[in-house]
Amino acid sequence: MARTIVKLGAVEYCFGAKSPMSPRILILGGSSEGFKLARMLEDSEHFNPLTSFAGVTKTRRPVAGDSRIGGFGGAQGLCDFIIINDIAALIDATHPFAKVMKANARNAAQMAQIPCLHILRPEWEAQRGDNWHKVKNMDEAAAAIPQGASPTFLTVGRTELASFAARRDISFLARVIDAPENLEDFTNLELVLARGPFDYETDIAFFRQHEIACLVSKNSGGEAAKSKLVCARELGIRVIMLNRPEPPGGEIAQSVTEAFEWLEAQFHAA
Ligand code: NAP
Repeated sequence: MARTIVKLGAVEYCFGAKSPMSPRILILGGSSEGFKLARMLEDSEHFNPLTSFAGVTKTRRPVAGDSRIGGFGGAQGLCDFIIINDIAALIDATHPFAKVMKANARNAAQMAQIPCLHILRPEWEAQRGDNWHKVKNMDEAAAAIPQGASPTFLTVGRTELASFAARRDISFLARVIDAPENLEDFTNLELVLARGPFDYETDIAFFRQHEIACLVSKNSGGEAAKSKLVCARELGIRVIMLNRPEPPGGEIAQSVTEAFEWLEAQFHAA
């Protein structure tokens, strides 16, 4: 399908040619679920998806249907966008740790009086053989790394690395999609640029090659980054696990299928 790209200030739009008669569904992207739902909606005859990205990563995966990139300007900005663009329902498919956007989505949908659903995949649960230490924030995570646990493998995203710079006694390997900026002083940090999904064979080879001594992870849930936890369990490695922020109020689906069914029910489209 031919696509048109329009740039309005900092925001970029990419439009296809689906019928504007189908309900326009705004997906707040940032997770694999957002991509999957966009594909399902684009393939269905009932819905017209528009996916929004914050624009945090430099390289983006292509998404089915229309898309836009850039913040809205808080809950009020999102509410205005919903009204101006005749959005019929809002699906928050941001990452489980994107706390601000989840709250903005709920508030904006309430103000604009449209239905809103959060997709929140289940958390990972510790299993027999796991050695997890749960923490509430990055500073606690940095402090919880045992002395001598070098190298520690950081899988927390590039914007969260600064908290670990205080641990001069530890060497770090950090897996990130894009290289962070302003971390010149963090000399005991080595970057591994990679984008998920990650598989067990690659991860276990990596853990063995680098003799990883400790793993720091957010409790993101899902399959795409789970294999590192299997590796840590098998190798008896301590995992510092960041608890999720409080779930947003409002309606929650645990999967893309549930979200699609919710939309069908909202619009009697089954
Ligand atoms: P956040 O703290 O919840 O949101 C910060 C601001 O980014 C929001 O206020 C909003 O700006 C803008 N934003 C976030 N998601 C957006 C979207 N889908 N479309 C347009 N604007 C968006 O989020 P974050 O933790 O910084 O994460 C930023 C993005 O990266 C999110 O989309 C998230 O899904 C994704 N991500 C986050 C993590 C993580 O661990 N936090 C991991 C993987 C992916 P305005 O107020 O101006 O609208």
